[in-house]
Amino acid sequence: MSYDESHLPARRRPLSRLTLVIAAAALVPGAFAGWLIWQAAGGSDDGGPAGLPAQGSSASASADPSPGSSGPGPGPSGTRSPSKPASGGDAAPGDARPAPGDGPLAGRTVVIDPGHNPGNFKHTAEINKLVDIGTNRKECDTTGTSGNSGYTEAEFTADVSQRLRTLLRKEGATVKLTHENDRAWGPCVDERAEIGNKAGADAVISIHADGSAAGNRGFHVILPALVKSGGADTSKIVTPSRDLGERVAGNFVRTTGSAPSNYLGGGTGLDVRDDLGGLNLSTVPKVFIECGNMRDSKDIALLTSADWRQKAAQGMADGISGFLKR
Ligand code: ZN
Repeated sequence: MSYDESHLPARRRPLSRLTLVIAAAALVPGAFAGWLIWQAAGGSDDGGPAGLPAQGSSASASADPSPGSSGPGPGPSGTRSPSKPASGGDAAPGDARPAPGDGPLAGRTVVIDPGHNPGNFKHTAEINKLVDIGTNRKECDTTGTSGNSGYTEAEFTADVSQRLRTLLRKEGATVKLTHENDRAWGPCVDERAEIGNKAGADAVISIHADGSAAGNRGFHVILPALVKSGGADTSKIVTPSRDLGERVAGNFVRTTGSAPSNYLGGGTGLDVRDDLGGLNLSTVPKVFIECGNMRDSKDIALLTSADWRQKAAQGMADGISGFLKR
């Protein structure tokens, strides 16, 4: 359990300062909230918020993302009725949640998208099929990455998604997952976006872990670039998605103690991409989060820790909750 080892030398600083900065950061519209908190926590000196990442900067080594669409599936669930739990799939045993209509997030709908699917490895033909993401055509879905020990990204995303669902339900939100052990593969990225759209979600988060080079560490949140092409038009979601993403990043730093990515985003923990179907095709505020790098030995130690995953889910829940209450 080394989730706070190496990079939190400054956690020893007086709590008061950290608390103050967190409070101040909460008021910063934006961009540098996560970075401010990280700095307050004693985080690296390797370069501050070198400005926000340029649009379309993604480049990343990420073997990743976007979950997708098509294929038979649980189908868009929940059509719009904010105050009642989405049909099907929303009830989980042991989930303590307020009665419908209770809680600060009552009437709000959140869609959680667990990146990839454990079954994708066995369905390469299906997931390699190209789908339209507005700007171009791209694979329906990908297998995702894994740690050296065999712990897969899909296992990780399913676990964190369920933890996040429980937390958001406790606040009264209606929560829907794009899939959960109920289909052999996928969904494709376009369907994943469509599920959020059809649910009329107030916020959507797609959960991932990266597969970058060892030594590359930390989390980052991916925001939609401005894209208007084919069936993609993100013009209405760019601004609210950035707000959502900044809140998630700031709270993720606070709850996990993890640093923003040291390999992209200039220390902000934020990246902007125009090549992800799950973002391009969304018509509701949406972000992706890469929680860490599964190919790095220190990051994988965190990602495989249930305790750390709970903190990660809490950071996402707090960020989403703050966004919905704004
Ligand atoms: Zn992924």
